[in-house]
Amino acid sequence: MSGDHPLSVTVETPTAGKYEQPTGLFINNEFVKAQDGKTFEVINPTDESVTCSVYEATEKDVDIAVSAARKAFEGPWRKETPENRGKVLVKLADLFEKNLDLLASVEALDNGKAVSMAKVDIGMAAGCLRYYGGWADKIEGKVTDTGPDTFNYIKKEPIGVCGQIIPWNFPLLMWSWKIGPAIACGNTVVLKTAEQTPLGGLVAAKLVKEAGFPPGVINVISGFGKTAGAAIASHMDVDKVAFTGSTVTGRTILKASAGSNLKKVTLELGGKSPNIVFDDADIDNAISWVNFGIFFNHGQCCCAGSRIYVQEGIYDEFIKRFKERAQKNVVGDPFAKDTFQGPQVSQLQFDRIMGYIKAGKEAGAKVEIGGNRKGDKGYFIEPTIFSNVTEDMKIMQEEIFGPVCSISKFKTKDEVIATGNKTTYGLAAAVHTRNLNTAIEVSNALKAGTVWVNTYNTLHHQMPFGGYKESGQGRELGEAALDNYTQTKTVSIRLGDALFG
Ligand code: ADP
Repeated sequence: MSGDHPLSVTVETPTAGKYEQPTGLFINNEFVKAQDGKTFEVINPTDESVTCSVYEATEKDVDIAVSAARKAFEGPWRKETPENRGKVLVKLADLFEKNLDLLASVEALDNGKAVSMAKVDIGMAAGCLRYYGGWADKIEGKVTDTGPDTFNYIKKEPIGVCGQIIPWNFPLLMWSWKIGPAIACGNTVVLKTAEQTPLGGLVAAKLVKEAGFPPGVINVISGFGKTAGAAIASHMDVDKVAFTGSTVTGRTILKASAGSNLKKVTLELGGKSPNIVFDDADIDNAISWVNFGIFFNHGQCCCAGSRIYVQEGIYDEFIKRFKERAQKNVVGDPFAKDTFQGPQVSQLQFDRIMGYIKAGKEAGAKVEIGGNRKGDKGYFIEPTIFSNVTEDMKIMQEEIFGPVCSISKFKTKDEVIATGNKTTYGLAAAVHTRNLNTAIEVSNALKAGTVWVNTYNTLHHQMPFGGYKESGQGRELGEAALDNYTQTKTVSIRLGDALFG
């Protein structure tokens, strides 16, 4: 608490050995202490031990980071060529790849995800940064002809200082989704990591400096939502906020924007996504994807396929084989070679999920497998499948964000489209069928930002991602994300004589 905490500590992971973990706030390309000298502990979800402490940003630190980002935006970054913006992003992508083992190990330590899965995250993060590096010199406007007396051009300009608030489920992947397009478009950023998982973002910040970004262009701070996050959302000199997290917090952020400077807001929020399996699906394939759809990342995905609808002709067989498949998911130490599912991220999340499991049991749903804590140390939960679930049950309505799914039987296409859409969310959905007409008809009818056919959770940085309804505003990834980070300027030049004499 006193400010004498070191700015770097040695941390050890089983896969990357010892490494130097920065603990400061990354502002102006330097790691600095928080103004109040406050720190907070980072808990390892695998064994509940304290990994280390990091400096905690409060409002004063947010002010300093925003000033740094403003100075960089109005100064060197504005003068930088698009080509050079792209070059540094691509360099950062290369550094992510060069440090893939270290970054993946830090993610596994911090978040509890299997290190094999974390490696995929880092590869995808590098892909995303490189992709937006490629966009930097392709952001173009147009010339619009309104008549011989006027020359008009319409250009895309950066928005300015972007506050970015990210969650703990994919710490570095979300870091890249936010930073990539913002930087490509010429903005500067103040990014706040989630309080549960601050470590990877700070290690990646070291790479920002190594890649050659000018000071102040990318600032990364650790801190809590109600203090540092709220300070970003209501800051008068932040021009835009991009947020990924819960729908409840998304509403708070919109209100903060409305109550401050009406900063532009994009939101990627929760989901309760339907995963629909028709009688004519390739059942082995469907089971693999349904399993991956819900249990990947321990169910901690906003797009998790948590509502599973299976057509009546294959329902019994599906449940039997899905149970067998899910029981083969190896749950345990994130650093063990075969682990698929590690612990949930925190005690709070663990308690929330166990609360939902209890509610499901009390409501009369049948526990097909799981339903319990696994082991007595760390936040491990057994993969849990509920059947006999009705639409009014809490476990069918609310986002659980854990390894828990609900299965229900359906008869007809129309019925499942109606039930699939009966939710306030609209982030993702999936259809499993061999019939092309069914695939297209159902995909078009589902109110979701992404619909997968015969697959699940297969996100790609070239494909837009975001929500219908209460799942969000705006789209991340793909060309669509550039809209979040640019504003349109119309320049109209009078060529002829004055109109009014
Ligand atoms: P969860 O409940 O899964 O932790 P949150 O939406 O609370 O999800 O958190 C996602 C991110 O939002 C984190 O970085 C967190 O610190 C931040 N956050 C939480 N509350 C606020 C808030 N009131 N204002 C701004 N950011 C917040």
